[in-house]
Amino acid sequence: MEERIIQAIEAIVGAENIQTEATDLYTYGYDASPEFHHEPDLVVAPASKDEIIQILSVCRDNRVPIVARGSGSNLSGGTVPIAGGIVLLFTRMNRILEFDQQNLTLTVEPGVITQEINQYIADSGLFFPPDPGSMQISTIGGNISENSGGLRALKYGVTKDYVLGLEVVMANGDVIETGGKLTKDVAGLNLTQLMIGSEGTLGIITKAILKLMPKPEANKTMIATYRTMTAAAQSVSDIIAAKITPATMEFLDQVTIKAVEDFAHVGLPTDAAAMLLIQQDGHPREIDADIETMAAICRDGAAIDVQVARDEAHGAQLMAARRTALSALARVKPTTVLEDATVPRSEIAALVNFINETAQKYQLYIGTFGHAGDGNMHPTCLTDLRDEAEMKRVHQAFAEIYQKTIELGGTVTGEHGVGLAKLPYLPWKLGAGGMRADRAIKAALDPDNILNPQKLY
Ligand SMILES: Cc1cc2nc3c(=O)[nH]c(=O)nc-3n(C[C@H](O)[C@H](O)[C@H](O)COP(=O)(O)OP(=O)(O)OC[C@H]3O[C@@H](n4cnc5c(N)ncnc54)[C@H](O)[C@@H]3O)c2cc1C
Repeated sequence: MEERIIQAIEAIVGAENIQTEATDLYTYGYDASPEFHHEPDLVVAPASKDEIIQILSVCRDNRVPIVARGSGSNLSGGTVPIAGGIVLLFTRMNRILEFDQQNLTLTVEPGVITQEINQYIADSGLFFPPDPGSMQISTIGGNISENSGGLRALKYGVTKDYVLGLEVVMANGDVIETGGKLTKDVAGLNLTQLMIGSEGTLGIITKAILKLMPKPEANKTMIATYRTMTAAAQSVSDIIAAKITPATMEFLDQVTIKAVEDFAHVGLPTDAAAMLLIQQDGHPREIDADIETMAAICRDGAAIDVQVARDEAHGAQLMAARRTALSALARVKPTTVLEDATVPRSEIAALVNFINETAQKYQLYIGTFGHAGDGNMHPTCLTDLRDEAEMKRVHQAFAEIYQKTIELGGTVTGEHGVGLAKLPYLPWKLGAGGMRADRAIKAALDPDNILNPQKLY
């Protein structure tokens, strides 16, 4: 990057808020996906929307790519600055701006860490339902831009269901305010939802109005273990068919159960082939009735064992253990390739059986866990990036797994985003017309292609 451009940016944010050291540039060349790396030319931490407008103006004039980055915890190469340019941080835009207890909203800057939202409103009797496994580190700006899901998605939905309005700096320097503290608003196109999940390619989010919900009075957790994956998947279908919507219904296969137990030591049954972790919340009487019915369904569905957590603390311990699944698996081998195949719930068993067959065919070590209630599976291949022959087999295996996912009526990413990782598979899901429509929107809103280029389209 030319020195005069660096100086122009420095004049906007101050020398202390730019990073040009080789080690910093190397670090910001990565995110949580293992296979992509490209260094930016500059890392910049603006303090305000106005500074972002000015930075974008410099980028536009000089055709410099600009990649928004929350915590870089995305698993799709979404923040790897593949075309160089600027990585834009929100570490100085991390304030909670307003808690409106009349309208049940929280207005935040994009750099707020997800977990801090619920900590901030802990005593209010309200909560913010989206709870990605990464909530201790991810930012709300990243969650919105990936439309992240979480363990409570089955009952409460995902991030898009809790964003009422956004402030966004567009590539041309316009600042738009979408939505508001409104439950109804059909004025114009739904730009709030267009921005959600757009992975930093259509605008820079500088503020968000979030919807809060009354906090459930209590919760109860149970685990059911199985000899086969098919039996576990059948219980998932039977519970949904019984018209019960648990807050959480997670699936772990044997590879994952063993890795988690080895890591978290919470007494998981390491001899089981599959396990469901189920939580219900709400009024204590309703919870008890639902847990009783679900336990009966699991037993009838050939569960080897069904155990209800002793109390909420024990339940929280089991849920926390589930959240460690990726970290636990990541300890096994040097490289962890975590995927995001999503099918209709009725097809979970077919997908997981196919994943296991494919792992055998390509002699790969794949553990699968995921949000069973959402049909969202995370087949996780434990491998080594330095083993080129094995990595080739990993790519072949996942291409087949995604082909199967599409055949089963599924999608190539349920919550982790397209980024760079899912680009090769995206046309399988969108088709030629869908790809053209997406690209037309990108070209209209970012004609110079400076916002996170080479991603998503
Ligand atoms: C251990 C672990 C567990 C995970 N569990 C889950 C899970 O349960 N569910 C789930 O959905 N994901 C999960 N993820 C993936 C990841 O944490 C989420 O995608 C998360 O939302 C990313 O947040 P971030 O702040 O790290 O964003 P980043 O990774 O920094 O960025 C993500 C995308 O958002 C864009 N972006 C960031 N901020 C802005 C902004 N202000 N304006 C415009 N664009 C912006 C970036 O350009 C990028 O495209 C997990 C990841 C890990 C490592």
